[in-house]
Amino acid sequence: MEDCIFCKIVDKSIPANIVYEDDDAVAFHDVSPQAPIHVLIVPKKHFDNITQLDTATAQHLFSHCVQTVAKMLNLADGFRLIVNTGKIAGQSVPHLHIHILAGKILGENLL
Ligand code: 5GP
Ligand code: ZN
Repeated sequence: MEDCIFCKIVDKSIPANIVYEDDDAVAFHDVSPQAPIHVLIVPKKHFDNITQLDTATAQHLFSHCVQTVAKMLNLADGFRLIVNTGKIAGQSVPHLHIHILAGKILGENLL
């Protein structure tokens, strides 16, 4: 999609520090990390947010990609997934992405 920053990362017209890529998804380090490890998993196809996501892509992202990135980055101690959706969640990039946060004790509070 035109003017979508994550579509531009997907098509490599802007750079990102990519940790994993396959035919349907790419994972890269967040440019403004909120934890020592902060990676975004992004489908190559543009979905505005999770409410548009199809089951096959959801399975690929949340099962295969999350597990693969967790193994690659040695996240055996755990991690947190966040999927901000829409205005009240503060979604700032309208291309579906899964945050993976790890590398420190994240605490018990969600917010
Ligand atoms: P949201 O608030 O939409 O859930 O998260 C968007 C995330 O994308 C933010 O954590 C922000 O730092 C990250 N981000 C925004 N633009 C870029 C970019 O150009 N490159 C990378 N690597 N991350 C970005
Ligand atoms: Zn996009």
